Amino acid sequence: MAAEPNRRLPLAGLTIAVVGAGRIGSELIRNLGLMGIGRIDVFEREPHLADPLRSRYTVYEGDFWDTLTLAGLQGYDFAVCTVDSPSARQRMNQKCVVANANLVQVWTEGTLAIVGAYPFAAQPESACFECDASRAAIPLPIAALTLSVEETPATAGPATRIATASVAGALAAALIARIAAGAHGSVARRATLDATLGQGASHEIRRDPHCRRCGSLQRPVPIVQTRNRWEAPASVAQTCPEMLNQRLQLSDEIEGLPVESCCVRELTARFNGGPIPAKFALTAAGGRIVCLDFEEREAGPAPAVSRAAAGHQPGN
Ligand SMILES: [Zn+2]
Repeated sequence: MAAEPNRRLPLAGLTIAVVGAGRIGSELIRNLGLMGIGRIDVFEREPHLADPLRSRYTVYEGDFWDTLTLAGLQGYDFAVCTVDSPSARQRMNQKCVVANANLVQVWTEGTLAIVGAYPFAAQPESACFECDASRAAIPLPIAALTLSVEETPATAGPATRIATASVAGALAAALIARIAAGAHGSVARRATLDATLGQGASHEIRRDPHCRRCGSLQRPVPIVQTRNRWEAPASVAQTCPEMLNQRLQLSDEIEGLPVESCCVRELTARFNGGPIPAKFALTAAGGRIVCLDFEEREAGPAPAVSRAAAGHQPGN
């Protein structure tokens, strides 16, 4: 929601969505709480993981893909993904790029705590997470560290994994505080810290013009609320048949439809009148890419779909 680079954001006024309440997420939330962050909302799929947090924070149960809508994301100063899964990180990136929400990704690889910050709201030209990933083949600065065979990421024991997760959560909190203080500049950045060696690296990430996620986007992407109903009345098909050939890139993969793009004709034929199982779609209109948002929007900053889940108590 912030639009100016280097603007100071008072911590007490910040709203932060934290996805994942596991080891990394709970350490992050503990730190953010101590820092006096105004509002922290927790999105967690496993109800028992979120139990210790319920007394202080609003918890949205379920997969964040369902509970954290584009409209919901736009209500937060930061969205942080602490889920240790590459596909979850990609999906968070996919939504935050379109919602123009500042994204922080945090995870661990062996003894490495890794935090990536992608200030989409502050910087229209910010690199995205997948710009970064597409260059993963290029050795990162951390690779320059001399690690012995015993110290390679794959060999981290249980105790080391716990400590590394704590370091990752705290590192993410520190990076958020730094960005909020306006000291981070307006660039995407990835910081890596080896929890056992204490050695770290931090580097700026530049936008990749060929990135499959953001390469064709001009941000902020205009978002158009759209009913998720797919029918083409005969009159429309007759008067503007080209509308049926309009191509869409859906947010979700649907079996039997091409992943990269499909056309309105295919959707109306397959989902005649009904909704399609996708959150949004990107399509070209007026010379640029716009987003058709299929998720229902409700008033207020809270994500719409999950409000009922937030009121749910175990045992009810
Ligand atoms: Zn990108």
